[in-house]
Amino acid sequence: MGPMTGIGIEVDGIGLAVPDGASLLTAVRAAGTELPALCSDDRLSPAGSCRTCLVRADGRVVAACVTPASPGARVETATDDLACLRRDAVELIASALPPRALTVDSPSELAHVCRSMGIGPEAARGADGRGEDDSHPYVRLDRDLCIACGRCVRMCSEVQGTFALTLVGRGGDTVVAPGAGGTWAESDCVACGGCVDTCPTGAITQPGPARGLTSGMRPAAARTLTTCGYCGVGCTLDVVTREGEITAVLPARDGPVNHGHACVKGRFAHGFRTSPERLTRPLLRRGGVLEPVGWDEALAHTARELRVAVGAGGPDAVAAISSARATNEDNYLVQKFMRAVLGTNNVDNCSRLCHSPSAAGLTASFGLSGGTDSFDDVQRADCLLVVGANPVEAHPVVGARLLNHVLHGAALVVADPRAVGLALHADVHLRPRPGTNVALFHGLAHILLAEGLVDEEFLRERATGLPELVALLDDYPPERVAGITGVPAEDLVAAARLYGRAERPAVVYGLGVTEHLHGTDGVRSLANLAILCGAVGSDRGYGVNPLRGQNNVQGASDMGALPDVLPGYGKVTDPAVRSRAEDVWGVPVPERPGLRIPDMFAAARTGDLRALWVVGEDVCATDPDTNRVTQALDACPLVVCNELFLSETARRADVVLPAASWLEKDGTFVNFDRRFQRVRPAVPPPGEARTDFDIVRALAAAMGADLGCATPAEALAECGRLAPVFAGLSHDRLDREGAVPWPCPDPGRPGEAKLYTRRFATPDGRAHLAAAPYLPPGEEPDDAYPLLLVTGRRWAHYNSGSMTRHGGNLALDPVDFLDLHPDDAHRYGVRDGERVAVESRHGRARLVARIGERTAPGQVFCSFHFPTSGVNRLTSDHADTVTSCPEYKVTAVRLAVP
Ligand code: SF4
Repeated sequence: MGPMTGIGIEVDGIGLAVPDGASLLTAVRAAGTELPALCSDDRLSPAGSCRTCLVRADGRVVAACVTPASPGARVETATDDLACLRRDAVELIASALPPRALTVDSPSELAHVCRSMGIGPEAARGADGRGEDDSHPYVRLDRDLCIACGRCVRMCSEVQGTFALTLVGRGGDTVVAPGAGGTWAESDCVACGGCVDTCPTGAITQPGPARGLTSGMRPAAARTLTTCGYCGVGCTLDVVTREGEITAVLPARDGPVNHGHACVKGRFAHGFRTSPERLTRPLLRRGGVLEPVGWDEALAHTARELRVAVGAGGPDAVAAISSARATNEDNYLVQKFMRAVLGTNNVDNCSRLCHSPSAAGLTASFGLSGGTDSFDDVQRADCLLVVGANPVEAHPVVGARLLNHVLHGAALVVADPRAVGLALHADVHLRPRPGTNVALFHGLAHILLAEGLVDEEFLRERATGLPELVALLDDYPPERVAGITGVPAEDLVAAARLYGRAERPAVVYGLGVTEHLHGTDGVRSLANLAILCGAVGSDRGYGVNPLRGQNNVQGASDMGALPDVLPGYGKVTDPAVRSRAEDVWGVPVPERPGLRIPDMFAAARTGDLRALWVVGEDVCATDPDTNRVTQALDACPLVVCNELFLSETARRADVVLPAASWLEKDGTFVNFDRRFQRVRPAVPPPGEARTDFDIVRALAAAMGADLGCATPAEALAECGRLAPVFAGLSHDRLDREGAVPWPCPDPGRPGEAKLYTRRFATPDGRAHLAAAPYLPPGEEPDDAYPLLLVTGRRWAHYNSGSMTRHGGNLALDPVDFLDLHPDDAHRYGVRDGERVAVESRHGRARLVARIGERTAPGQVFCSFHFPTSGVNRLTSDHADTVTSCPEYKVTAVRLAVP
């Protein structure tokens, strides 16, 4: 046995060490002793209210959950009198419940405790009578089984931060209830499932076959550990199956990012899998109609038409949009197919539409395209600057962790035009006019310099570009910046002081920074703040961290599904990079960079692009200026689409290939803080649907090519041979270790969670300050289009909504709303709940008005989760001048008669 560290303690004569701050309950369980603790959950603060964990410590009987372990303490658990006391406490609790609480097949924690103590159903002598609340699709409350332990209330407040639940009543009548009164469905509940997962009695359950199942149990059914396929947080989920069907998806207690938490999407939104609308057979367009065909026919047709396209226009007449939803291995194979089989670099992925400015900006400022620090470190920051992000809705587990950190004392500056969830808890909420970020960041930088809040040694030793930036910042005093952004000068000063005076600040940002005409300048100007304060690549702070949108948008780019770089970000124009790939693939790699997604559509409209393969993206719903996207697809002679459903894009395709979902495939994802994590199939794909990995290999075979890489594990191994930053990664390693961040060049060493501790990855090893002037957005309001539209995500849905709309989440959020301020509602005579038409210079959409103060006057907001409402017909083709990322966040619109 190695030397003991931490607090030395003795439990029933066994010596052990527990960490500082551990409770006696932790110590007892570490000693292998089972102890009931009905009001306790490791994820929560202790309550000490149920008295079922009584032990004797140094002669005193105490509740183990609320008693800290102290050095040298001697703890007894096994004496008859203690067993008796605990049994009395459990019996007292059980006696108030109806007998059905303790039926022999009850999976609840309480029933398990009673069985272990020999307490039978006859001990439950209470009566039913308080009734149920079954108003919610995912949460059912059985009030008669509530023991008022408060675990659900603490889960909702301490972990989720929603504060939707409370305990009402007195004494034995105390029961959990939605805090605002009314039904559960009417409450603020965001269906994270935390209350369901912690409830020890079955009072709060998930309806259906998973009823009563929680992450703390070991059910008889099969479990598969995998990574969530919705957002870029990368929660580890435990998928429970019975007879080949999913009965529950539970948050993994030891998930490295989620720590036993999840959100409504990962936790509950898996009903899409068995939707009758799911595609189960390939479809081929004949006589204008999509008809079911066999795989051989679909693949042979696609291969034939690809050859025709290449024959007519050369390899560059074909392009592929790979998928940020698909695995790394799928993406690796798609780009390999395009480069090695067809001979073109025409491959891109939807990071083009969201975080391509992050890749360009972070690379230019620091050297690599990912966030600079791990999220665990970000959660150690004493000041968070959250910019252009609404993690409470779009990245709920990160949002909950950030909120939790703020509630525990971290300072918070939110910069966002809307009153997003975190803004309610901010010390300073900056509300810049959409499109003015660069001026805002320069204003903050000006104040940092003016007030001496910069790290001069860091700037001297580790940065470049200071003189140019200082000269530029002369033009950005707070008063001028206030005029450009609409943010009061005193708020700018307060925010800059909070960030600049913090000991360990961190920047977290989202698409509100990138999806602009000058998105890359926005990222770089934001990065300036961290460089000025020496808060990146040092122990002075936790850098600059983008919240990636889709589950694998980081990985799709890492794998080289981009037109200008190969796996690992080596440029296709670099002969040494190409040569390394050619050595592995055995074929020449084209040297001319390929088309970006918007250029693919433009080329299709002009007839230069003759075939487009869209892998798992609904470009007709999510890409801007939909009318021009549909024109492009209609003009393209061959459109092939891998999909789960007959999406708007699939409807226009010539060949539709039914694809497996994230719950049905094997591989890896990379989350927003660069962690590789395993994805494992919990169930088989429906009907004849296949994984994207198999589809790419089969299409290559139909074209007479062998892509190698018989399995996803082999594909990742091959990728590591091309890209040194991934050389230390493998499926076996991830199976052993769980999450591993990149860069990870060595299988024997950990990946780098925190970057640039010695030098930046730029050619000169320094961080590069950027002196880009503020330039106005592509559109501004005018008399004809007086409102500014911002688009974004809402909590119950994801992106085009293809998965979340095919399941219970539709009951939680059934339509696309247009959020507008009461002043504007009054000005334009709009009533809450009324259908409205919204028009821009590019198109028209129909939405339902929702009046409230989250949006500022003169601005409106909507999501893009419902393709039929046509939101992206409104958005323009203005795009980031560096990366072509669309300007989703600024569109001038007007309200019109529906
Ligand atoms: Fe976690 Fe995001 Fe999945 Fe929600 S959608 S469970 S936050 S990974």
